Amino acid sequence: MIVSLKADANPAEVLRALVSRGLWVTQVERSASGEPRHYVIAAHSAATSAEELATIEGIAGVTTAKAEHPKVTAQGPVVDVAGVSVGAGKPAFMVGPCSVESEAHVREIAERLAPLGVAFLRGGAYKPRTSPYAFQGHGEVALGWLRRAAEATGMKVVTEALSEADVPAVAELADLVQVGSRNMQNYALLKAVGRSGRPVLLKRGMSATLDEWLHSGEYLLAGGARGVIFCERGIRSFDDATRNLLDLGAVALLAHVHQLPVIVDPSHGVGRRDLIVPLGRAALAAGAAGLMIETHPDPASALSDGPQAVPLAEIGAVMRELRGGAPRASNGGAS
Ligand code: PEP
Ligand code: MN
Repeated sequence: MIVSLKADANPAEVLRALVSRGLWVTQVERSASGEPRHYVIAAHSAATSAEELATIEGIAGVTTAKAEHPKVTAQGPVVDVAGVSVGAGKPAFMVGPCSVESEAHVREIAERLAPLGVAFLRGGAYKPRTSPYAFQGHGEVALGWLRRAAEATGMKVVTEALSEADVPAVAELADLVQVGSRNMQNYALLKAVGRSGRPVLLKRGMSATLDEWLHSGEYLLAGGARGVIFCERGIRSFDDATRNLLDLGAVALLAHVHQLPVIVDPSHGVGRRDLIVPLGRAALAAGAAGLMIETHPDPASALSDGPQAVPLAEIGAVMRELRGGAPRASNGGAS
């Protein structure tokens, strides 16, 4: 937004009024006498409106730039996924294995999760793996296993479409289509997922700025997606003490300034099961609409991401702690 000052305004007073609202302000034009005439308010500074700023003494007018991602801006904080409202207040939990390993495997997990009030069963049928020799997922057959496990237990399905070719099968069987971190800027995929008309869980690219992430959301909505839920899963940092750097500042910004639904994935965010509870709680406090968590009946034998999976036997205790219950005596089996 650009704020223009009245001819008789006191620029220092106006600047003080803007900064006191937590806004990031730069001056762009000075009068012949050297006084500032306009101030620019940075897009990601505190939530405000042109109407509110226009009431400040000394301000003649406020110009709002055309939104670069108008459909994302207009979406609002709540997305309906097959009758489950994400962002409406009650945290949405998306829990399950990294990879769907067999029909019995995903069924056992769903049967454990559903009574805990976990609304979404997550699991990868198509896996984005760093090595081409690593397990790539069971593909289409695993989508059927996931769907049947979810239907048998009254859960919704969230699973990833890794390529354009996967979109029809994933969109048919998933309630929420996941776009993975490595694909956040795969625009052809975003368009194809958008055309499916499904709601989408858009993971943040591991080196993506907030603005790039919002633009990718715009691709999905412009293509026809019925709602975008953002998912913070950690970004690259200089420090490898945790797998990634979970950016809770971005979560608070999306939730409180942009008023958008954000799910936080502490499993990929830090890569350690013993930090799921503290970071999950911090994420909910920061404004997350819910959490995505990986679990496995036997993490040591998991085909992918075993070290970060919460043992299925412990997931009930983890859910209780995330909902504000008393901490367990142990740290839940640190890896
Ligand atoms: C996943 O959710 O299993 C996954 C691969 O996540 P990300 O795209 O965040 O790495
Ligand atoms: Mn994983």
